[in-house]
Amino acid sequence: MYQLQDSVLLVKGIGANLQKNLAKEQIEQILDLLLFLPLRYEDRSSIKSIIEIKNLTTSETTLANSTENQKVKTNFVTTFAKLLKFNEYRKGRLLISRATIYDGTGQINCVWFNNKFLKNRMIVGQSFFFSGNLKDDTLMQATVEKVAEDAEGIHTGRLVPIYSQLADFKQGNLRRILAEIIGKLHQAGNFEQIFHDLHFPESIDKIIAARENLALEEIICLIQKSQQAKKEHQKKHAIFSLPTSIKQKHIDSSSSLPFTLTAAQNKAVEEIFNDLQETTPMNRLLVGDVGSGKTIVAAIPASTMVENGQNVCLIVPTKILAQQHFTNLSKIFKNISFCLINSDVKQELSSSTTSEGVFYIGTHSILNRLKKINPSLVIYDEQQRFGVKHRQLDEYLDKNQNQPHLLSMTATPIPRSLMLSIFSHLDLSYLDQMPNSRKMATTWFIPKSKEKKAIEWLAKELLGGNTTGERKQALIICPFINPSSYGATENVAAVKDSLELLKKELKTIYKKLNIKQDSQLEIDVLHSQLNKKQQAKVIENVYKQKIQILVSTPMVEVGVDLPNADIIVIQSAERFGLSSLHQLRGRVGRKGQESYCLLFSSANSDSQDRLQKFCQEKDGLKLAEIDLKNRGAGDILGYQQSGLNNLHFASWTNLEIINLAQKKLMTEPDYHSPLQDYLEKVNSQSTIQTATN
Ligand code: ADP
Ligand code: MG
Repeated sequence: MYQLQDSVLLVKGIGANLQKNLAKEQIEQILDLLLFLPLRYEDRSSIKSIIEIKNLTTSETTLANSTENQKVKTNFVTTFAKLLKFNEYRKGRLLISRATIYDGTGQINCVWFNNKFLKNRMIVGQSFFFSGNLKDDTLMQATVEKVAEDAEGIHTGRLVPIYSQLADFKQGNLRRILAEIIGKLHQAGNFEQIFHDLHFPESIDKIIAARENLALEEIICLIQKSQQAKKEHQKKHAIFSLPTSIKQKHIDSSSSLPFTLTAAQNKAVEEIFNDLQETTPMNRLLVGDVGSGKTIVAAIPASTMVENGQNVCLIVPTKILAQQHFTNLSKIFKNISFCLINSDVKQELSSSTTSEGVFYIGTHSILNRLKKINPSLVIYDEQQRFGVKHRQLDEYLDKNQNQPHLLSMTATPIPRSLMLSIFSHLDLSYLDQMPNSRKMATTWFIPKSKEKKAIEWLAKELLGGNTTGERKQALIICPFINPSSYGATENVAAVKDSLELLKKELKTIYKKLNIKQDSQLEIDVLHSQLNKKQQAKVIENVYKQKIQILVSTPMVEVGVDLPNADIIVIQSAERFGLSSLHQLRGRVGRKGQESYCLLFSSANSDSQDRLQKFCQEKDGLKLAEIDLKNRGAGDILGYQQSGLNNLHFASWTNLEIINLAQKKLMTEPDYHSPLQDYLEKVNSQSTIQTATN
């Protein structure tokens, strides 16, 4: 019998070696292993003979494909067959493998792309299970498993989970070990059922129900954590509170701004000032769409703190942002000292920490110096991600009985109801109004057939410049760096391919419009495989308008301010949640200029509807709510798009589960979820990872 907290070493089939390797992946207890969830499931409930596969009508496959559920590939077929022929060849960067398999009823071809591991396993004459998508009588990208024919029950004849690589487990071994554990799970309450349904599901509905149960546990933990944080926080003391007489001051200082604050900004400034006068330290979250003007809202009270002899830290996700804020704010607040800190600027701080306050602006590297700086106010700009505070900051805040005031800022559109129920320890300010000068980009949905035309339009816009003679700029966003990193080839726009294609199309356009070499457009790429220096260089070049088209992964979503960008093209737009699309759209037209967002997509009509809606809707919060209704839109695509990336099982969208969690805590306030320790552990790991920006 096994219990959730037992060491994996107790499991039959796991020896000391495997245990060591699992520990490297933070899998120590049986619970950790059970929470290693399948990436997806394949429906191998009926193994078909090749003749049956060939006779499948298309209507059957498309019908199955249209079911709502996310992680089950229902248009898959499974067959057990012998390998007749196998060969592979290269076509450019693409590795193509082809096989012919047969089973007595007939033969069929298989194709794989960029699967360099196949060759060693594919031994002619041996039999395998092949599960793949049927297209034009060819089995595409099939998973290949060598399994004894009588292993029915674990690997075939059901919805079979597919896991990502874990330690040195083979898929089959991992399944067998999980079967062993789940069969003998003891004292795990309803988790016995949950884990059974996640790893050995009888139906898709059961998978969904089980995942929802995990989500419920997670939300319960979050609410409890928030309640705890609130209690702790109320015991703390602010290092410094502004005297109450100070209020008039901000009204005076805001009159020297280059613009007038919106009503929403004024209200938020007011709320922050009120907090700063309290003896309990502020713990406030400022929520506002990209471009809603959060920086100045934070900077006004911050400058007042500095004038009162206090140190203040503004922590931002990138060096470029730090530089931008440093330049802009020191222009606006001329009478206070600013200091820029990032990993390159190693400034000795002792000399500047005199009785005069300093406004420190920098990246996470400020965190190493918090002790020295001893700020009375810390402003943490989380941009598109919420809840990824650096552990160092948490520890710094935790240890000190006397604490700085804390203001977090996020552009993640979090509905109020969600905040009130889950993050009750945070006070909220919303900027639900855009500065007047800022127009949201006009958004168009571009079907596949019109992409060429759209590129031509784009080129003409960029070549033409505008009336003031400034060069226009465009961003082209692709979801992935190269096709193989996703494993699929269809419809996946990739930066590198996209760049090639674009260059080709531009060539034709230049010819047509008779554009000479020296007036052609400058193009560059940005993605995370470039090192930080290269990235900074590219962004600088865009900033200085040396580059007119930037082809990029969604990394520009995270806080790069490119005020000159006018047009954004988002490829494979259906792969993004609406909130993410909205963040991307907010990247253009930052100076208030006319701007455009073009959504490229060749997806099915459901996705098209969603994207059409997006073209009409300009309100980030409303879009977030639509995302919520399409529960887990980001999950379907297998990567997190919500911006709330500290959730493991829940999707923020599910208000029903949040209500359930609240009810449960009403009747059982001391409920201890078995997931609690696990979540603490993985959360502390993920904060480390996100701090590398
Ligand atoms: P975000 O909320 O995305 O951080 P920023 O603080 O960077 O937005 O502001 C975006 C731009 O809008 C900046 O150039 C800023 O100077 C400008 N801005 C902020 N508030 C106003 C306002 N009330 N009127 C006009 N422009 C404003
Ligand atoms: Mg900002």
